[in-house]
Amino acid sequence: MDFELTEEQRQIRTTVADFAEREIKPNAGRWNREAIFPREIVEKIGQLGFLGVAFPEQYGGGGADTLSQVIVVEGLARYDAGIALSCAAHMSLCAGHIVMFASEQQRVSLLPDLLAGRKLGAWCLTEPDSGSDAAAMRTRAIRDGDSFTIDGSKMFITNGSVADVYVVMAVTEPAAGRSGISAFLVERGTKGLSNGPKIEKLGLHSSDTAEVIFDHLKVPATNLIGEAGAGYRQTLQVLEGGRIGIAGWAIGMARGAMEDAADYARQRHQFGRPIADFQAIQWMLADMATRIEASWMLTCRAAALKDRGLRYGRAAAMAKLYASETAMWATTKAVQIHGGYGYVTEFPVERYMRDAKLSEIGEGTSEVQRMIIAKSLLRDGYLTE
Ligand SMILES: Cc1cc2nc3c(=O)[nH]c(=O)nc-3n(C[C@H](O)[C@H](O)[C@H](O)COP(=O)(O)OP(=O)(O)OC[C@H]3O[C@@H](n4cnc5c(N)ncnc54)[C@H](O)[C@@H]3O)c2cc1C
Repeated sequence: MDFELTEEQRQIRTTVADFAEREIKPNAGRWNREAIFPREIVEKIGQLGFLGVAFPEQYGGGGADTLSQVIVVEGLARYDAGIALSCAAHMSLCAGHIVMFASEQQRVSLLPDLLAGRKLGAWCLTEPDSGSDAAAMRTRAIRDGDSFTIDGSKMFITNGSVADVYVVMAVTEPAAGRSGISAFLVERGTKGLSNGPKIEKLGLHSSDTAEVIFDHLKVPATNLIGEAGAGYRQTLQVLEGGRIGIAGWAIGMARGAMEDAADYARQRHQFGRPIADFQAIQWMLADMATRIEASWMLTCRAAALKDRGLRYGRAAAMAKLYASETAMWATTKAVQIHGGYGYVTEFPVERYMRDAKLSEIGEGTSEVQRMIIAKSLLRDGYLTE
């Protein structure tokens, strides 16, 4: 096992960091205060090749590995977790679902625009009454000759009111349970597609989150992704890959909190000394660095297993669980190190703390990750993946 980044990965990290410091860092505070989703920034991220970094070259991607995509999301989340979340949902969920399961014709018609940032993607699984138990969804798609009519609504959808392409899970055969769920492509502008009222959030104000409503929305049967009834199986695989990206996203926030806290501790004086001299502060920083490093190792392992075609579900769940709990813990400690200045909006650490909470909820809560890990452990034993 190699613990070093490759030359290519190193270069991606540097390019993303340069971009994020130049284009995101100076504006993140304002975007989040004013709840602006900066679409033009996501387009630029696409133009630079970051959105497609790990996708096949024949669709306009960069052909790099899974860890390269993690590096992109981590680097963006360092300064603005909202933008990074919008990019992660676009790449890992929407475009990820399409590249894994859509027909060649669907891939060729959608992926080049999605990967270049000309179109924005959303992925619609959660509903107002179903989240962790996604199979309990109620959105129905009824076949009528050569088309399907979709009715229902999806809740908390990232890019939900700004996307051009939606991957939508719906029940096509209620009696078949999980095997009666199918995935569809829906494009913005289709009659019957609308959004619910604006959702006010705790954090991630630069990311769009919306309810997506389908009212007698008709799509041609050719918009089905893969076979009818395969949607739930597809969803589980898309989420497994997505969790590796979310682990990187959480690490980006945790690193931001640690770096900001270390800078602050060097310049803030109390009792005639920089607070960085106090062991209580040093231990918080040391624990942050150690937990971030452990999160990174777990994430690298999950990404490596995925790229080698091995089972990686448990490894991805562990990476996501540990990285997200690290992000919540590290951002809370960063506020502590900033004292009163951590509690006010002059410094970004309070935003990091609010943003980090979502990492313990989205793409499977921490409880769901523990269920996945325990189930795999009890079924297969420890030494498997
Ligand atoms: C900002 C944001 C962005 C999002 N983006 C998307 C998106 O792009 N696409 C999408 O489809 N969804 C998205 N979501 C939805 C997100 O994935 C869900 O919120 C999440 O899966 C949890 O579902 P829920 O909110 O219904 O909570 P619930 O499932 O109702 O869970 C409530 C609580 O019960 C616990 N719980 C549930 N079942 C069990 C169990 N069996 N054992 C133990 N505890 C359990 C949970 O862990 C949690 O603590 C987003 C959510 C937010 C807030």
